[in-house]
Amino acid sequence: MLLADTKRILLKLSGEVLMGDQQFGIDTDFVAKLAGEVKAAKETGLEICLVIGGGNIFRGMAGAAKGMDRAQADYMGMLATVMNALAMQSALEKLGVETRVQSAIQMDQVCEPVIRRRAERHLEKGRVVIFAAGVGAPYFTTDSGAALRAAEMGCDALFKGTSVDGVYNADPKKDASATRYDTIDYDTVLAENLKVMDASAVALCRDNDIPIVVFSIRERGNLARVLAGDGIQTIVRT
Ligand code: UDP
Repeated sequence: MLLADTKRILLKLSGEVLMGDQQFGIDTDFVAKLAGEVKAAKETGLEICLVIGGGNIFRGMAGAAKGMDRAQADYMGMLATVMNALAMQSALEKLGVETRVQSAIQMDQVCEPVIRRRAERHLEKGRVVIFAAGVGAPYFTTDSGAALRAAEMGCDALFKGTSVDGVYNADPKKDASATRYDTIDYDTVLAENLKVMDASAVALCRDNDIPIVVFSIRERGNLARVLAGDGIQTIVRT
């Protein structure tokens, strides 16, 4: 096991990974594959909280750059995360994994509101709890939502599944000499402004001593490999 005594994790997937090879939106085949990864992780006995971003559909910053009111654009971004959460819920339930979606913006006809004790009960019953709408406020991101839920739900670690296999000292897509850290501490990430998660999310994890594991979710079976300690990743911790 990568991290000893891990019983409950928060898995954060950026919205972009739901696009698969598309340029926009939700690739249902790829979401089905992601659901398979989550199922396999659950079958190892872990309790799983999920947070999914919305960048494949809408980002508040992009709306603001085009002249929209930022808060209004962020509400749209939060709604995008609910769509992704529902897509993932369907994919997981098709595989026989019981789930509940809890949204930080109340949407009673669609999903539950965030209620910690209820979420706790779902996890006890073996359900995957998908937390949608980030922290429920504009000017935040789903990274902060993930850090918040990880702390609130007492998760042992936050696994951030993205399209790169860890944290590099430079952008590996632009700089061939960029090297990946195996481990790095929170303060270095913050001081060097490394692109792991936004600063408020990293600080929240630091203050609550929650390790962040950054890994690529694009390759099949990678979540299981990383969890087992056989994968490639960067661990951010003290
Ligand atoms: N968002 C927000 N508050 C939150 C979480 C998300 O306003 O607590 C909005 C914000 O506009 C953000 C968008 O939702 O750009 C989508 O989330 P994010 O950018 O974190 O998605 P990801 O990059 O993980 O796909």
